[in-house]
Amino acid sequence: SVAMENNVSYRRYDPMFDQKTAERVQLIARVRDGLANQEFQLFHQPKICLRTGQHVGSEALLRWFNHENKMVMPGLFMPKVESTTLIDPVTRFVIARACINIKSQNLMPVSVNFAINNLMNPSLINDLGRLVSSYGVSPESLEIEITEGALIQDPEQAREAVGNLRDQGFKVSLDDFGTGYSSFQYLTNLPLSGLKIDRAFVNNLEVSAEARTIMESMISMAKALKLEVTVEGIETAQQMKIVADLGADLAQGFHYSRPLALSEYQQWANDRLSSHF
Ligand code: C2E
Ligand code: MG
Ligand code: MG
Ligand code: MG
Repeated sequence: SVAMENNVSYRRYDPMFDQKTAERVQLIARVRDGLANQEFQLFHQPKICLRTGQHVGSEALLRWFNHENKMVMPGLFMPKVESTTLIDPVTRFVIARACINIKSQNLMPVSVNFAINNLMNPSLINDLGRLVSSYGVSPESLEIEITEGALIQDPEQAREAVGNLRDQGFKVSLDDFGTGYSSFQYLTNLPLSGLKIDRAFVNNLEVSAEARTIMESMISMAKALKLEVTVEGIETAQQMKIVADLGADLAQGFHYSRPLALSEYQQWANDRLSSHF
């Protein structure tokens, strides 16, 4: 009841609260065990150049195959992991795996997602170049995606971290652009290389002139700032044509492919090459 919720001292005895805390602690323990037991894999989703139609790289997306070998999507565990110290080993796993995949399969550039707490961790940021080169991978082959949460939390440190990554030769893109607080103000003096427009802006492109206007504005603003523009969540040929005509550089989405296990991704890339030539 409202009376209970307002009674702060009562909260300590709220059985729901205790249950949620227990579930959270258990989830974090399972992720930690899962890392040790190699239950995590990277799936790759192709990125397509809209000008040439060519496959130019992929985004690495984490998948967890739990003790029952069921696939668990990152939305179910990453938000909790991101707020704990476990985000460091999880991201280091993602980087290591991405580098191993790049090196062993001779992959085109792979993007990895960084949490706010990764960007705010100088020991990871300062050493990233050395880390990837220890796998024989160059910084041009690994790209970083960040979200604007970090820019809002500590704009100064975020700016420094992005600059540091760019100085080491990494591309850095702002992911999920247009959602959340997303103020254009955060883009000024931020040495990003790219911007990924969230798929929320793609849904209505075919039916709404307003949606097309908003997309057009975001693309032209990004272009004016010399950012490479990726549109996420392209599901139809018509959506692809609209964003291509509006000048977007790259696209990702189910229209091309869902995220795929490494071997399937390689198969997809080969099939696409042979169908093009
Ligand atoms: P994101 O980085 O924005 O990744 C794009 C998400 O959109 C992926 O979901 C992808 O499967 C989905 N997607 C791609 N194309 C389409 C489409 O055409 N339609 C629809 N409906 N969805 C599409 P996924 O793999 O479930 O990942 C969700 C989020 O989890 C990611 O969003 C990212 O924020 C986070 N995440 C995934 N892997 C990692 C990771 O290794 N580290 C961190 N920190 N976060 C990760
Ligand atoms: Mg991403
Ligand atoms: Mg995104
Ligand atoms: Mg996202």
